[in-house]
Amino acid sequence: MVINFAAGPAKLPEEVLKEVQQELTDYNNTGMSIMEMSHRGSVYLKINEDAMKSCRELLKVPENYKILLMQGGGSGQFAAVCMNLMGKTGSADYAVTGTWSWKAYKEAQKYGNANLVFPKPENFTTIPPQNEWKLNPNASYLYYCDNETVDGVEFNFVPETNGIPLVCDMSSNFMSRSIDVSKFGLIFAGAQKNVGPAGVTVIIVREDMIGNAMKITPSVFDYMDVAKNNSVSNTPPTFIIYIMSRVFEWLKRNDGVEGMSKLAQKKSQLIYGTINKSNGFYTCPVDEQYRSRMNLPFRISGGDEALEKEFLQKAEKAGMVQLKGHRSVGGIRASLYNAISFENTETLNKFMNEFYEGKKL
Ligand code: PLP
Repeated sequence: MVINFAAGPAKLPEEVLKEVQQELTDYNNTGMSIMEMSHRGSVYLKINEDAMKSCRELLKVPENYKILLMQGGGSGQFAAVCMNLMGKTGSADYAVTGTWSWKAYKEAQKYGNANLVFPKPENFTTIPPQNEWKLNPNASYLYYCDNETVDGVEFNFVPETNGIPLVCDMSSNFMSRSIDVSKFGLIFAGAQKNVGPAGVTVIIVREDMIGNAMKITPSVFDYMDVAKNNSVSNTPPTFIIYIMSRVFEWLKRNDGVEGMSKLAQKKSQLIYGTINKSNGFYTCPVDEQYRSRMNLPFRISGGDEALEKEFLQKAEKAGMVQLKGHRSVGGIRASLYNAISFENTETLNKFMNEFYEGKKL
């Protein structure tokens, strides 16, 4: 067995994989695999319904919000958000704090007037204070990414918007802490980090935000259309949604998002503690207050690539895989999503300490 620290697609809870394996060829005595069933049949429709119900329960989603399950990934939502929400005033605000919000901003320029609320920094290592953000009172929404997967920058606050709807990409910290959904106009998250395999994106949208889609919006991306059809307007990724619903059940058995939040705090503090205590051997470029609990990027000895390569090779030999940093930032990145246990994190921490001690001598 290896410990998979990938940034996504990421490790799934072993318990869930075992359940799925057991039911792979015969789901609930139907004699069929979920992936062979009609998406309009009662067996699958119940799974679809249960997935949305569990999501509502876990995040305490208010009644006036719809939960949609869509395809096209987080990147699909970069466009869908614009096509559905930007038409109202023709413009939208973007707070760019990392690689993914930058991509969303670039996509938005195709659909209308996308404005940066603060200039794009050279490196993504912090979040400018809110009093420096220049919000456009005429924006259809303010967009931000709660956790920047590549750069390891995570919000520790919900931005104030003076009534402008807030749109948030929570792909890489979804279900890792409780959120007050009522503060948001829309939240989206690709499943492949914290809640399932790649192939489905969860959208939580306030009802009054729906219904102003641009004429060019493909029906499969039109929130109204998807909502009216309970997310089965066309063939959904049935098997993926089934696995996600199993992850939701696993989350419920493990104290839900509160349980995950405590665990994420404990795991990330352990690794950041080691980085901070290493006398500059390990360095994390991110401002301490915005360091991600999910994706922990760090360099070794000021970015010594030979040493980083050695670290990765030795880690892999010791059973810890996919620790390489994103190609745009280099170094190491440890992703500590929900399925990474505290014990897994301790194993990495011990390895980091031993590697450091070995180089000190
Ligand atoms: N947003 C965030 C925060 C991500 O981490 C990613 C992918 O890693 C995306 C969006 C893009 O998601 P997808 O690859 O599903 O389009």
